[in-house]
Amino acid sequence: MLKNIRNDSEWTDITDEDYIIQTDLNNEKCGILFLCSGCKKIIAIATKTSGDLPGWNIDFETLTSTPSILHTPPHGCGWHGYLTNGNLNAC
Ligand SMILES: [Zn+2]
Repeated sequence: MLKNIRNDSEWTDITDEDYIIQTDLNNEKCGILFLCSGCKKIIAIATKTSGDLPGWNIDFETLTSTPSILHTPPHGCGWHGYLTNGNLNAC
């Protein structure tokens, strides 16, 4: 479960209970970083993306996002699941 909010400067020793909220140039919350439940590498999801893909709907208070998250191979491990109330649940 994600329960410890961290600052960007601290993310070298991030654990699977830690998360980082990213903000944009207007100081609006725009993304979350956390460790993948599958491979423990960092996953980043954002409300906006630079390409054609839609962003996630993220509730930064409850740590809930939609749609699902896929840690896309080959860089990711293929873990697929949801962030709901701070819990990462595989689907
Ligand atoms: Zn992974």
